[in-house]
Amino acid sequence: MKQLCFATNNKHKLAEVSQMLEGKYELLSLQDIGCHEELPEEQDTLEGNSRQKAEYVWQHYNVSCFADDTGLEVEALDGAPGVYSARYAGPQRSDSDNIQHLLQNLAPHENCKARFRTSITLILDGKEHQFEGTAKGTISKEYKGNKGFGYDPVFVPEGHDRTFAEMSATEKNAISHRGRAVQQLVAFLKAL
Ligand code: IMP
Repeated sequence: MKQLCFATNNKHKLAEVSQMLEGKYELLSLQDIGCHEELPEEQDTLEGNSRQKAEYVWQHYNVSCFADDTGLEVEALDGAPGVYSARYAGPQRSDSDNIQHLLQNLAPHENCKARFRTSITLILDGKEHQFEGTAKGTISKEYKGNKGFGYDPVFVPEGHDRTFAEMSATEKNAISHRGRAVQQLVAFLKAL
């Protein structure tokens, strides 16, 4: 079976994508390829960061790989926090601090429209391919639910009246930004 590295050590993300690949590729984590350092993420776009991480793995470990990068883009805040979503409230990368900071900044605005966006860069035998997935929705001014992570307790996807944090993982993956980007990646790999 062909091997492909997913540039993450998040076991949950690995299991999810592995299941979708239905045995076509053996997915390796960063740990599996002996990469224990933090990957560089210094770009100011999601596409730039997913590319930088995938290129780092390809150049240093010479294995075909893909990397993802996600951000929450809020319309009334001109697309913030965007690429800075993980450290919106500071370098401590705390989900609850980030949500609090977001709700404070959004308080003067009536427009609560937002979207999550995921960029995936795949490098297969040295050739680069990019995929994108988005999930539109609104920011709820109250926290709801305790599942998921990040901004899930305040994000209500379009066409639903519950936040991502009130949905099961299967329900969220079917409509989420990352789920959609991964579906495209998987369709591409399966068609090869
Ligand atoms: P990453 O690129 O997947 O590490 O995501 C960057 C940041 O975006 C995370 O630290 C979270 O704050 C936020 N984020 C990414 N995906 C999600 C999600 O599915 N739900 C809520 N927040 C997310």
